[in-house]
Amino acid sequence: MKNLYIAGKWLPASDGGTSQTINPFDAAPLETVAEASAGDVNDAVAAARGAFGDPGSPWPRTPVTERARLLSTIAGLLQRDKEQLARTESLDTGKTLNEGRADVDDTTAVFRYYAGIAGSHAGRVVDPGRPGVRSRVVHEPVGVCALIAPWNYPLLQISWKLAPALAAGNTTVLKPSELTPLSTIALVALAEEAGAPPGVVNLLLGGGSTVGRALAEHPQVDLISFTGGLATGQKIMAAAAAGVRRVALELGGKNPNIVFADADYEAAVDNALTAAFLHSGQVCSAGARLILEDVLYDGFVAELARRADRIRLGSGLDPDTECGPLISAAHRAKVERYISSAVAEGAEIRAGGGRPEDPGLAGGFFLRPTVLARCTRDMTVVREEVFGPVVTVERFSAEEEAIGLGNDTGYGLAGAVWTQDAGRAERVAAALRHGTVWINDYHPYLPQAEWGGFGRSGIGRELGPSGLEEYQEKKHVYHNVSPSPSGWFSG
Ligand code: NAD
Repeated sequence: MKNLYIAGKWLPASDGGTSQTINPFDAAPLETVAEASAGDVNDAVAAARGAFGDPGSPWPRTPVTERARLLSTIAGLLQRDKEQLARTESLDTGKTLNEGRADVDDTTAVFRYYAGIAGSHAGRVVDPGRPGVRSRVVHEPVGVCALIAPWNYPLLQISWKLAPALAAGNTTVLKPSELTPLSTIALVALAEEAGAPPGVVNLLLGGGSTVGRALAEHPQVDLISFTGGLATGQKIMAAAAAGVRRVALELGGKNPNIVFADADYEAAVDNALTAAFLHSGQVCSAGARLILEDVLYDGFVAELARRADRIRLGSGLDPDTECGPLISAAHRAKVERYISSAVAEGAEIRAGGGRPEDPGLAGGFFLRPTVLARCTRDMTVVREEVFGPVVTVERFSAEEEAIGLGNDTGYGLAGAVWTQDAGRAERVAAALRHGTVWINDYHPYLPQAEWGGFGRSGIGRELGPSGLEEYQEKKHVYHNVSPSPSGWFSG
């Protein structure tokens, strides 16, 4: 049984509520977790408010070197527990152990990065342009931050929020996805072990429309940082609007992967596969829209389909597995509906298209990697985020057309261009309206570089210096060191 963490104590739900998580590999019960009540939400926010203090006591006033030390300690503990955490993430999400290990390393890097820059973003001195005045802009923490995360990268996504929030001196209430809470519970235990004072990190477990909603609507929350789907993001924004509270949103994507005929063929095919099918396509930045130059089309699609058919599905804990299951039966059913609608609208299935025949996989939520050819920009499957192992393939004949297709989406999270012509690469990268553009690569990101979306992919940025600034208020202090009457009124 896993409990809530409020004001430095591990507690069951105040009304005794629990829920059960399952392993998506075989639908077997995994863990019983507390399901927070409305009272627990109030208690967690009150604990965070108390630790923040008003106008500002323990945690915001803790020297920044101490806050950085806490982050560094957590980073060390993440590495100490790497294998266990990777296993937990694999069991909870279905991803492979290797992906779980990479997530722990990336999470560690995020804590280290924010430990490193915590002290260097305190503000700036402003030249007031007038004698006898000292002017400066100081950065202060925002206050109580609600951090709400999705199920696909549970540990990683919460770390993009928790590390900068703590570095900036905020107090926090974490709400992981009800489908995958286990690695976040482990992370909170590491924060406790590292010496996070009571109330600085609080943990609520439970459903989105109950616990998540109560947290987002809570008037004592100053900032809501949310990663998840578009529809939920819209609700969070509405909840924030009611109290005019700060909001940061990392939402979905419909990401173009554009390949010109002069690209390095082997690298482009191999990366098209990774772009589309890593973590069974349940990646916000997945290259789910492959856009190929005409002359490449037939051969490239055939090769991609051949390789997609060979991807080994199985348990994330099996070292031979390349792709795990989807997260739930409901999610798989949704992805299957997208495949059906694509076929009805004229797409051709070149690989996958259904569930695997292996009886050993029948208990889990598996779906074969699917390549859909003859796709056009007006199809539902091309316009909406599928978030599964499905890649649509469109074609173009000219650079302008490729750019037009790549930007023909309401989203704007990420995209890639493959070409050996450096001038063209730069032109296309400059024209794409997406928060990340890869040239001759797909998927890498850096803790020191901003991540986020244009358009409906979100508001604000995580990672990089902007990821810290999300959690800072800016205050202008204007100090007149030799005051005199202003003389505006005769008196
Ligand atoms: P989701 O929106 O269903 O849930 C995300 C979180 O919000 C969960 O913790 C959930 O419990 C909570 N929630 C649900 N309803 C809520 C409400 N009314 N109020 C407050 N909280 C609520 O998303 P998901 O299915 O868990 O994740 C998949 C989505 O996340 C995809 O769209 C994907 O693109 C997106 N995502 C984006 C990024 C990014 O960096 N932009 C990264 C990962 C995932």
